[in-house]
Amino acid sequence: MDQSVSPVPSGPVARKITRQSVVRYGDREVRVGGGAPVVVQSMTNTDTADAIGTAIQIKELARAGSEVVRITVNTEEAAAAVPAIREQLDKMGIDVPLVGDFHYNGHLLLTRHPACAEALSKYRINPGNVGQGAKRDTQFAQMIEVANKYDKPVRIGVNWGSLDQSLLARMMDENAQRKDPWTAQGVMYEALITSALDNAKRAEELGMPGDRIVLSCKVSGVQDLIAVYRELSRRCDYPLHLGLTEAGMGSKGIVASTAAIGVLLQEGIGDTIRVSLTPEPGGDRTKEVIVAQEILQTMGLRKFTPMVIACPGCGRTTSTVFQELADQIQTYLREQMPVWKTSYPGVEEMNVAVMGCIVNGPGESKHANIGISLPGTGESPAAPVFVDGQKSVTLRGERIAEEFQTIVLDYVKTRYGRS
Ligand code: SF4
Repeated sequence: MDQSVSPVPSGPVARKITRQSVVRYGDREVRVGGGAPVVVQSMTNTDTADAIGTAIQIKELARAGSEVVRITVNTEEAAAAVPAIREQLDKMGIDVPLVGDFHYNGHLLLTRHPACAEALSKYRINPGNVGQGAKRDTQFAQMIEVANKYDKPVRIGVNWGSLDQSLLARMMDENAQRKDPWTAQGVMYEALITSALDNAKRAEELGMPGDRIVLSCKVSGVQDLIAVYRELSRRCDYPLHLGLTEAGMGSKGIVASTAAIGVLLQEGIGDTIRVSLTPEPGGDRTKEVIVAQEILQTMGLRKFTPMVIACPGCGRTTSTVFQELADQIQTYLREQMPVWKTSYPGVEEMNVAVMGCIVNGPGESKHANIGISLPGTGESPAAPVFVDGQKSVTLRGERIAEEFQTIVLDYVKTRYGRS
């Protein structure tokens, strides 16, 4: 053996250990940072003043796996509805912590609606939208005062679409005095980071414990996000919330978010994530939760639901049978998880392979917990099933899908059942 060759390293670099912030509701505690598993967050797009509609969407997001849900609190009506939303969720048995998203009038809403301030588990404060001039400091202090009064953590959430313009102007002026001025992009990055860190420092000066603060600096460009978070992470040990803002629709939004978040997570940066997808008209809001989970699971950072390994198909599969089976099994597994995760602990680690033909079918199926290799064009119409690497049965006929689903369920019961 060549002694100069060393094993290929695998996996992400060690997570950067930040302070730990805890978001609580009742007995539910979600730990953010400090080495805790990366947390999945989401945000509603309902009118918060519609308490029932918002509670229903929060329930859907929570059932899909969102561990914290953010709601906009933008008007008196929205603030007044927050306790009713919480009450409605309690009735439905949903204990997911709620984060209130405040801009412009957060100081007023939080002080005029104490029941709202209490019902929320955390406040998101955007330093760029707290107020202008001298009012800015007072209004920021008012929000921190309420958070301190009710023992709530905060996220200082900077966004380059609403960056503090007075800070940016001052930094641009300072840059103009430099012997070698930075690029406008460099000044922008620095302004985002400075805004987050200065406001976190100010919150601590106002009596907020450092472990109740989470930071974010969201931008809409992949390279911008990576550059900003690398530097932010280097300069502080607050937990960081990652997300590409305005990621966009469909595959573009998914790819851009995954590229940006994936690189940072691989470097050990990030304690909680949100994938900001624009839903298709009438689309399902829970998609952003599923994508966030899939980023974490495919990177090997967390496990949420059994994974389906399916080949892409090619000229050897002229029918859609295997595509339909892969889709059916994937949907079936995800739908079972709310019950399975308590009845069958560990089931989220299961892999199921659905393969289109004999070329890679048996091999990939043997690597999975359960796999099925469907017959490609010209092959005999038989589908061998492999369980824990061994061929167990060969399925034939019209009911292959149903029979395979039964085999999967039996496997889950036997392998992961508590008894
Ligand atoms: S396993 Fe078979 S059907 Fe699937 S991509 Fe490979 S060759 Fe094509």
